[in-house]
Amino acid sequence: MSDSKQQSVLVVEDNELNMRLFCDLLDAYGYKTFQCRDGGRAVEIARREVPDLIIMDIQLPEVSGLDITRWIKDDAAIRHIPVLAVTAFAMRADEKRVREAGCEGYLSKPIQMRSFIKAVESLIASKAAA
Ligand code: MN
Repeated sequence: MSDSKQQSVLVVEDNELNMRLFCDLLDAYGYKTFQCRDGGRAVEIARREVPDLIIMDIQLPEVSGLDITRWIKDDAAIRHIPVLAVTAFAMRADEKRVREAGCEGYLSKPIQMRSFIKAVESLIASKAAA
């Protein structure tokens, strides 16, 4: 993979501990991160930064991460960006719903470091190959 441009990830997450965990991990693996705690601003930030991947918490206070994902996939400028959904353990059965909203990847909390980074790498690689 070319390293001429540092790859970037937008993290949409309202929980501060998870935000730190995701960003610390991504940082350790060399990704630039953009943080979004307010789901209502996620589309705007995605349009401005055009990250290589979006990590989307599904349970947000104001708006569902599924709705945000639908907005992203309705937007021609950013719909190509893969979305990796992260959901609470209790929602594990809802993978179908997450996929139908347009998310390309899915992980349930608690996140395991290895599967998280593997999912990030493979989604970015699949995008780069497309
Ligand atoms: Mn949340």
